[in-house]
Amino acid sequence: MAEETIFSKIIRKEIPADILYQDELVTAFRDISPKAPTHILIIPNAVIPTVNDVTAEHEQALGRLFTVARKQAADAGIAEDGYRLLVNCNRHGGQEVYHIHMHLLGGRPLGPMLAQ
Ligand code: 5GP
Repeated sequence: MAEETIFSKIIRKEIPADILYQDELVTAFRDISPKAPTHILIIPNAVIPTVNDVTAEHEQALGRLFTVARKQAADAGIAEDGYRLLVNCNRHGGQEVYHIHMHLLGGRPLGPMLAQ
């Protein structure tokens, strides 16, 4: 069994978070330290630590991250201007929380994809 992180407590509503959407497979909530005017995290409810741990059985939940991202971007009013979806993996990827998550960032021009 993969180790739980703070995100499991958010899913179970044991600690406060600004949850925007939840269903049986995924949860979307505002990032506590937003890097853009819109910064939402979309996560599977099951603990998958990193992209390296993804298997075929996760495809339904991970596919839903995209449909929820599309809806959240539309609801935030940033769909037309555009936004960025980002998944960090492990140390070089800058991953801090080892429960796989998709960042939805937007609300301003985000610049080049990587800092030089
Ligand atoms: P990572 O660097 O792992 O891709 O991103 C982790 C993200 O989780 C960061 O943007 C960080 O601000 C966010 N985060 C960490 N702890 C919490 C928390 O307790 N609540 C919320 N809402 N976001 C968190």
